[in-house]
Amino acid sequence: MADALNAFPDVNIVPDEVVGFAQTIIHKPSVTGGEGILGRFLGHALEGFGLRVELQEVTTGRHNVLAVLPGDDPALSLLFHAHMDTVPFVAMVNPLSARIQDDHIWGRGSVDQKGGLAAAVMALAAIARSGVRLRSSLGLALVVDEEAEHRGSMALVERGLQARQAVVTEPSGLRLVVGCKGTLPFQIRVRGKKAHGCRPWLGVNAIHQALRVMQALEDVEYPEYVVPGYGKVRGSLNLGVIEGGLAYNIVPDECSLWFDRRTVPGEAQETVLEGIQAILDRLAEDGNPPVESFLSVARPDWNWAPIRRRGLWPAVTPADAPLRELVARHHLAVIGQPVETYFTDGYNEMDFLINDLGIPTVQYGPGDSRLCHTDEERLSVPQLLDATRVYVRLALAAAA
Ligand SMILES: [Zn+2]
Repeated sequence: MADALNAFPDVNIVPDEVVGFAQTIIHKPSVTGGEGILGRFLGHALEGFGLRVELQEVTTGRHNVLAVLPGDDPALSLLFHAHMDTVPFVAMVNPLSARIQDDHIWGRGSVDQKGGLAAAVMALAAIARSGVRLRSSLGLALVVDEEAEHRGSMALVERGLQARQAVVTEPSGLRLVVGCKGTLPFQIRVRGKKAHGCRPWLGVNAIHQALRVMQALEDVEYPEYVVPGYGKVRGSLNLGVIEGGLAYNIVPDECSLWFDRRTVPGEAQETVLEGIQAILDRLAEDGNPPVESFLSVARPDWNWAPIRRRGLWPAVTPADAPLRELVARHHLAVIGQPVETYFTDGYNEMDFLINDLGIPTVQYGPGDSRLCHTDEERLSVPQLLDATRVYVRLALAAAA
């Protein structure tokens, strides 16, 4: 098989330029809700590199940046997807410094996911600069709000964005991620009856009742799914927060449990909720005393009704998607080792691309995802450069 890059020797990436660009965008804060400045900067930069740019307003002052490198055919043969927002700085020291130390760029968002974003932009910029003639077009969707209510990718869905295939550039340590779990955050409010702590038999202890709910949910077996080319994955449940009780001598009348249910392909939010409700109904009927409870989809940072209604679904790359083989081939050519196929327990927005837009999508990006959201967040420079090289090859193989 001819090496796509050898066929186009003029497509060169300049390592200093790639690293410098990544540093520049890490310097610009873009905590969720404040992506405006970075978005405008990227829009101008992409125009400067020769791409056609459109800003899609998502909420006031917050835009998705949609860019196209046009080919003979306007249809997109490959779309790169990245999110521009980051989580807050929390306790990270110098979160915007983008300093380089031990071959890593430090900073909030360096791994999640300005590295992948920079690699995709630099790959398209290198192709644009080369003047290579493209048979089909290449696209880039930079979205807002990934770390919160996913309004950016929901806006892509609203618009009906189309592409033959897509790469989510979230960090995968350059593994080929062929699917992700969904996440269903829910709250169960358990009600009791207040009484003085010296006469608990006159009340109903909401915390005790909540413990029974916890126990019942712990006993559930979570379904398994076999990911083509990877293996078995299983759903899970985490009880993250318990709220309840006022004082040691008062029988509590209210207790809230906040759960994170991770789902595997084949599980739908509605069915999972029905299953939980059935358990609660059983406890309400045969309980002694009966458990009075209220189930709702809830996450502290979710106020927007559409995302609560839709939820975040599991996704899996179609087993026959040519992109799997394409990434494997070009990863091998750049890295010299076969790519590891992976399915992530985390969630990412390949959900919207695969499930809503029907675009066969993989995740493949630079950076160690275990460093996401930590105070030690730092991006491997060699991985950043390798990702850029692989993206150039993928883009050329798809479009040239
Ligand atoms: Zn991310």
